[in-house]
Amino acid sequence: MLQAIEELSTALEELRVAEEELHQQNEQLHIANQQVALERQRYQELFDFAPDGYLVTNTEGKILEVNQAAAQLLNISKNFLVGKALINFIPEEERRAFRNQLLQLSQMQRIQEWEIRLQPRKGNIFDASLSVATVLASQDKLQGWRWLVRDITSRKQAEEKLRLIQQENLELQETAAIKTQMMSVLSHELRTPLNSILGFSQLLLHRYYNLFPPELRDMIERITRSGKHLLGLIENMLDFSKLERDRLELNIQEFNLVELVTATTEEVRCLAEQKNLTLVLHANIENPRVVNDSVRLRQILVNLVSNAIKFTDTGGVFVEVQQGNQDQVVLMVKDTGIGIPESELAHIFQEFWQVDKSTTRKYGGIGLGLAIADKLVRLMKGTITVESNLGEGSTFRVLLPRNVSH
Ligand code: ADP
Repeated sequence: MLQAIEELSTALEELRVAEEELHQQNEQLHIANQQVALERQRYQELFDFAPDGYLVTNTEGKILEVNQAAAQLLNISKNFLVGKALINFIPEEERRAFRNQLLQLSQMQRIQEWEIRLQPRKGNIFDASLSVATVLASQDKLQGWRWLVRDITSRKQAEEKLRLIQQENLELQETAAIKTQMMSVLSHELRTPLNSILGFSQLLLHRYYNLFPPELRDMIERITRSGKHLLGLIENMLDFSKLERDRLELNIQEFNLVELVTATTEEVRCLAEQKNLTLVLHANIENPRVVNDSVRLRQILVNLVSNAIKFTDTGGVFVEVQQGNQDQVVLMVKDTGIGIPESELAHIFQEFWQVDKSTTRKYGGIGLGLAIADKLVRLMKGTITVESNLGEGSTFRVLLPRNVSH
């Protein structure tokens, strides 16, 4: 009897322990349940307040869940959206394509960035991007689709703008190519007869100089002068078109830079004298040997110095040769002329750019000199820069490698 009571008491004790354990398990279950509810709420909040539109549909595309952003995009309240077919928000003409895509969806796991147009309720059609992923039930059974919906109107507009700019750019490039081609053909065509005009007028002068009365000589000399001027312009156009089409090659050899600059400055000295301007050359360089194209370097210098003379009325022009660093040389052309307004400085090396664009311009020229100088300097792997103060003068600075073939 005593034993039976003891057994009963042990069993009771075990029962209490078991009850206690059950109680604890219950509590844990309760806590776990609370956590699950919290997680669900968290997920729901994330889902609801996500900045992008989210939808969940079944495999036929019927909306089961929807967040705030998606409701806003489709301009309809969440409650009215649930139960509706997503296809209702696709414009009529695109529904067939949408249905086909939906049928194919079941063979895919996900689709990224499917671009489509959406038709909100009582709103304007807009460009949207859809990303779709499968929602799987147990045993990997397809249950539906999760949709991410984004309004990509501004991206599309930016893309369209970019496309238009690219197209315009292409058209501009084509126009520029035609312009260069025309310039090249035209200058070739003009050069041949002009050369013969020049050749014959010079021949006339040489052969019959003594036979001609002075006024006839004067006329022929004028023909020659004008012809030479025209030829210079035509040569400029030809050079420019060659430079534009990368058809100009440098003829490189070693020479003395100071000698070249001195000779070139002397060639244009008469132009300075005609305007009572001083023209000073200063060379401050230890080693004057350079490897470059002397004809083209002379051309750059002539352009810069004749501009300096052309745009200076009083004072003078100062040409300087300097040592750059070890492997560089510097050419400077300074004047005390009219100067260039700051707003024009950025454009000054563009072809046909002239500060005074009026037809009654005081100074001659067609605006190619600096463009050619700039392109030649680039070809020589150097740089050309300008500093100027209006009414005080300008300084052009050309920095060149001592050896352009390096
Ligand atoms: P062009 O001299 O034939 O007009 P350039 O290309 O040599 O063409 O020069 C372009 C423009 O830059 C000139 O029309 C002038 O307005 C300005 N410019 C160039 N050099 C000077 C200078 N030294 N001083 C003032 N303006 C200058």
